[in-house]
Amino acid sequence: MLYLHIPFCHHKCTYCGFYSVAGSRDRDAYVGALCDELRMRSSQQQLKTVYFGGGTPSILSLQQLQRIVDTIRDNYDTSALQEVTLEANPENLTPSYLDGLAAMHFVNRLSIGIQSFRDDELHRINRVHSAQQAREAIHNAAASGFENVSIDLIMGLPGQTCDDFQTNLDALASLPDVEVVKHLSCYELTVEEGSILERQLRMGRLALPAEQTLVEEYGKLYDWCEVHGFEQYEVSNFCRPGYASRHNSGYWMRTPYLGVGAAAHSFDGTCRRWNVADIQCYVDGTAQGTVPFEEEQLSERDAYNEYLMTALRTVDGIDLERVPPSLRERLAMAVKPFVRQGLLTETPQGYKPTRGGLLHADGMAATLFEV
Ligand code: SF4
Repeated sequence: MLYLHIPFCHHKCTYCGFYSVAGSRDRDAYVGALCDELRMRSSQQQLKTVYFGGGTPSILSLQQLQRIVDTIRDNYDTSALQEVTLEANPENLTPSYLDGLAAMHFVNRLSIGIQSFRDDELHRINRVHSAQQAREAIHNAAASGFENVSIDLIMGLPGQTCDDFQTNLDALASLPDVEVVKHLSCYELTVEEGSILERQLRMGRLALPAEQTLVEEYGKLYDWCEVHGFEQYEVSNFCRPGYASRHNSGYWMRTPYLGVGAAAHSFDGTCRRWNVADIQCYVDGTAQGTVPFEEEQLSERDAYNEYLMTALRTVDGIDLERVPPSLRERLAMAVKPFVRQGLLTETPQGYKPTRGGLLHADGMAATLFEV
């Protein structure tokens, strides 16, 4: 699995907690550094998935993307690639951009940051695109031959009512090209410390919906997914059968991956490493042949806790084969209250969260952690 971080955005959305910088920077220099790191860290291992994340990867020109794609093809074994995702924002997805992307024969999945099909909601969180551009992006993707599109929606936006959220779902269902939308990521808005949104909320300029509204929005989402043939496979992720994200599922299965770019994380099975979160340091470092990074060796306990955290967020839940034998009895005792409350069910393989349990995944994991 290979992840590439593209830390550029047109401007900052008010809720953003990702490492990205707004405005026009020297993207060529960054792409050059990224290609250098790709060469420095190449290995013989077959790549199964590639993920361009950000930031806004679709802010790169076709030439810049082609340079990265060529470097991957020249330095990695891409013969078994199954899924190559590019995160994209609607305003970049013009017919000519998408035709050029399709002509590279590399990206086979688009993850489009729609967030909302309503102009009032988009405006409140300072998104660049309009609702019309969101609809057009999906149409343009279909017209250029992209048949595997994922879209992101956000629940619990400032000022959102349950009916507003329903109009988002209705807008999605009524798209003429909805059949190319194979995957839906629907995240509950989180208020990041230090974000513009946090300040706006603190000053009373905006207000978040009540808890009960969110509960009702989840109900609308589940109903919509059932009617339109989408299965839930993780707390916030839904797909048509067979279209779960292979790359993200790999993270949840704790599969090793290589992350390149400023602020990108890597994991080799026991050690986590993260590159410096500063574009200039990153570019200067790679020019001298070293990428500044920090790393952390995971203990057996850390690895187990991480496994609990991710497993409880997926419908497959905890597989006892992946729990150290010495901890299984203690886990069996600790999950009993959750089984009684209907948040977990026992299976021959382990423990699966129910739909209600998925919403309490983080709380359950915190209780079950080994300290
Ligand atoms: S487009 Fe994404 S990464 Fe960029 S500012 Fe908005 S939320 Fe953050």
